[in-house]
Amino acid sequence: MNYRVLLYYHYTTIEDPAAFSEEHLAYCKELGLKGRILVANEGINGTCSGTIEQTEAYMEAMKNHPLFEGIVFKIDEAEGHTFKKMHVRPRPELVHLSLEDDINPNELTGNYLSPKEFYEEMQREDTIVLDARNTYEYDVGHFRGAIRPDVETFRDLPNWVRDNRELLDGKRVLTYCTGGIRCEKFSGWLVREGFEDVGQLHGGIATYGKDPEVKGQLWDGQMYVFDERLTVPINQVEHVVVGKDHFDGTPCERYINCANPECNKQIITSEENEAKHLGGCTMECTKHERNRYIVRHELSEEEAAFRIAELEKELTAK
Ligand SMILES: [Zn+2]
Repeated sequence: MNYRVLLYYHYTTIEDPAAFSEEHLAYCKELGLKGRILVANEGINGTCSGTIEQTEAYMEAMKNHPLFEGIVFKIDEAEGHTFKKMHVRPRPELVHLSLEDDINPNELTGNYLSPKEFYEEMQREDTIVLDARNTYEYDVGHFRGAIRPDVETFRDLPNWVRDNRELLDGKRVLTYCTGGIRCEKFSGWLVREGFEDVGQLHGGIATYGKDPEVKGQLWDGQMYVFDERLTVPINQVEHVVVGKDHFDGTPCERYINCANPECNKQIITSEENEAKHLGGCTMECTKHERNRYIVRHELSEEEAAFRIAELEKELTAK
């Protein structure tokens, strides 16, 4: 294990995100890092991979940069790079919540809970745990008993909360996300909405999984990550599979992208079912003229047509 994956964010004021991005990209490339970093007026959010030496040099430089004082890195060990390229991109904001009046987490945010505090508090009767991620992240792993807001993406969360107030009113509300950046804003918004007792998992699930005392307990499944690993383990004590195969609902934790390049939806499915459906999330995607599964597996036109016919026969027989 000579590589590492870094995950980090820092809310700070970056005057010229475009200029900063350009400079930062050159620096990261010079170091040999790969990954994806977003830069906005409100700060920086990144995940990148590199050798121990490369990542050490990067963390050292960032910690000594006047803009990023106090920045915290979550570090995973890895066998190699977990990204193909290095991107640094300017963005209007780091976290998009569709708010008319944006939240500055340095001014307003929920109480920070350590992994130990979060572990203890989520077991209290008067507590509601809200997953502040996308549903496809929740579906492969989440805290036991956490609510899965039925929203397409994170930015729809405020509307979901307004529509489901009765669930949360009078309760202590705890939120969590991968590394903590989304909860900084979301929990701040909950406080502004009038919820009095709002807590957020400090450092996110990534930090929780590494706590030597808590050992990731009460986490079920795997944690979805935004690099080539796709999922990583969190609970060191027990492993409960919560993911379900997209096609037959059997327990599964394997993610693929739909083979239709225009769909590209992430679904959980076994190798066997992926092969049977030629990688398509629906029959329409399976039959797409640019099906990548067919290309990748070098299936002849006859072979593909035969397998699609077999699949259709099976599906109509059901
Ligand atoms: Zn699809």
